[in-house]
Amino acid sequence: MIRIGVGQDIHRLVLGRRFLLGGVQLPAEKGEAGHSDGDALAHAVIDALLGAAALGDIGGLFPPSDPALKDADSMALLRSALCLVQRAGWRLHNLDCVVCCESPKLLPFRDAIRASLAEALEVPAERVFVKGKTAEGLGPVGEGRAVQALAVCLLERGDSPAGREGKEAQHEAENRD
Ligand code: MG
Repeated sequence: MIRIGVGQDIHRLVLGRRFLLGGVQLPAEKGEAGHSDGDALAHAVIDALLGAAALGDIGGLFPPSDPALKDADSMALLRSALCLVQRAGWRLHNLDCVVCCESPKLLPFRDAIRASLAEALEVPAERVFVKGKTAEGLGPVGEGRAVQALAVCLLERGDSPAGREGKEAQHEAENRD
């Protein structure tokens, strides 16, 4: 069985905060506002995983009203979400992401971000991809006031309908006179 999941997040960019994407800190004048460390990409990936497994969403699992999550490490939250997904029998096949921001350029950091996400998600880096885009000066992202992240993931689990049918057919064959 396979399940697709999608996640999206947007964070305001403000002075005095770190600019984190998938656990990697990028050099930037402004960073992500947020109750946690503000890692918009990690948050989008969490929602993609949880959505694919129908296990809820980041707001329900890690509510911003929880004082224990103040300045929380979003990659630790991602690992917690992965644990839930794995406990339900799912494993990640691949993850694809888009990050929209005016600056900095993502390309020099892409492989580090992929490696960081892949390590947290316990998959080889070739199963994780991240693309950087700008918003062509349009809207809050284009004006440099926000960073937006999108993530799509594919989960797989061993109990595929085809596999089950195959086992049933085998069972019937074995019990046939
Ligand atoms: Mg967020």
